[in-house]
Amino acid sequence: MTSDPRRRLPSVEAVLVGLQARLVDVSAASPNRAILTRLVQARISVERQTAATDDGHEVPDLQALVGELAEEARALMNGRLFPVINATGVLLQTNLGRAPLSEETSVRLGGVAMGYSNLEYDIEAGRRSDRAGTLRQTFEALLGVPAVVVNNNAASLLLALATVARGREVIVSRGELIEIGGSFRLPDVMRLSGARLVEVGTTNRTRLADYREAITPRTAMILKVHTSNFQVVGFVESVPVDHLAVLAQERNIVIMEDLGSGSLLPTEEAGLAHEPTVQDTLAAGVDLVAFSGDKLLGGPQAGLVAGRAELVAKLGKNALYRALRPDKLTLVALEATLGSYLRGQARTELPLWRMLMETAGSTRIRATAWVEAVRTELGNTAPPCHVVDVESTVGGGTLPGQVLNGFGLAVGTPGRRPSAATLAERLRRSTPTVIGRVHHGRLILDPRTVVDPEDDLAVADVLVSALRQ
Ligand SMILES: *Cc1c(COP(=O)(O)O)cnc(C)c1O
Repeated sequence: MTSDPRRRLPSVEAVLVGLQARLVDVSAASPNRAILTRLVQARISVERQTAATDDGHEVPDLQALVGELAEEARALMNGRLFPVINATGVLLQTNLGRAPLSEETSVRLGGVAMGYSNLEYDIEAGRRSDRAGTLRQTFEALLGVPAVVVNNNAASLLLALATVARGREVIVSRGELIEIGGSFRLPDVMRLSGARLVEVGTTNRTRLADYREAITPRTAMILKVHTSNFQVVGFVESVPVDHLAVLAQERNIVIMEDLGSGSLLPTEEAGLAHEPTVQDTLAAGVDLVAFSGDKLLGGPQAGLVAGRAELVAKLGKNALYRALRPDKLTLVALEATLGSYLRGQARTELPLWRMLMETAGSTRIRATAWVEAVRTELGNTAPPCHVVDVESTVGGGTLPGQVLNGFGLAVGTPGRRPSAATLAERLRRSTPTVIGRVHHGRLILDPRTVVDPEDDLAVADVLVSALRQ
């Protein structure tokens, strides 16, 4: 009979003493005893549970536990959010932080981060000003209308619905009742805002008459939602927003469009299908348009609601704005991003647009350099490694079904070791971390999303080391 493996676990006190000694060896700075005790207790409790439920579980000894916990303590002190190299070919990866920011934005962030700023202060008058009006002039110059900024586009919708339609009705087409990643469902946001959802039409067809017949004295708004993360194909009909704008105006109700991605530049310049721009949407006659800061705009996480001045001002005055307002770092990053548009330099200055506009020829040169690095370093011992066609995607629920054609590197042979999954894991565990994707048993690296081409060398080094292991 084997004894209970839990009895073989070292005591919390023994691990703690060992851990403190180990950390002192390495550096003068170390978490205090209370913090280390929590780490040790948490780990021992996990080991206990695993030992209780899994008969074959090998209980780690004191040395092993101390080593692993020292690593964990160090990682904790250094922070767990760090840069990674995105070689997945998905430009707006929500899990990887969506849009990378421009150099100018990073400099401007640094400038504001370490000191004070005129966030809510009118320099000329020498008194408090209004944060909601911070970027007013920037938006008026860019779009011809003001906008209010909140923390993300989900917050844009919440604020706009609560301000315009609390206790009243909002008409939405059934084909547009979307769920976006991270369990963001339009009907839920609608309920939280205090507005009542009135669904019209069917999943695939909604006509102008459906909207017209749904309008009652309780109607506050028609909401059009850009269905950006899926496509309904086939027998589909929806009402163009300019027709809805005419109807809303006739009946004296608000018309708003949730654009989601909200590009300020025509996506066809990157060879993609036309995504309605913010300017198109405003020109169609909407009262309000909501969009994200970190999708095709190429800036920080933020939600923007632009449109009719008196409505935008009302949004800024709603008590809810206080709970949804962005901090100075978001505002300065957004202003710096919008500066690239004002200067007419967004295509070259904003990393997202550089990646969108990169030619297939350029990606071929970069992918070829990776393949050559592997062949030069590993010669005949290298697993098969080739330049292949790849299709990068915009991601982030934007332009579904649309791809950017280019070239990437493919390495490995399906069914042979090391497997593509093993290689991908080695790359993730490398310094710097490189994230690729596995496709049909091979590891694919797409240079398009490696934001800084200077990182190409680091990717080649990490790949060569991963193949040598
Ligand atoms: C992405 C998206 C949202 C949510 O935006 P966040 O900035 O992620 O909160 C809302 N509506 C649509 C149509 C979207 O595409």
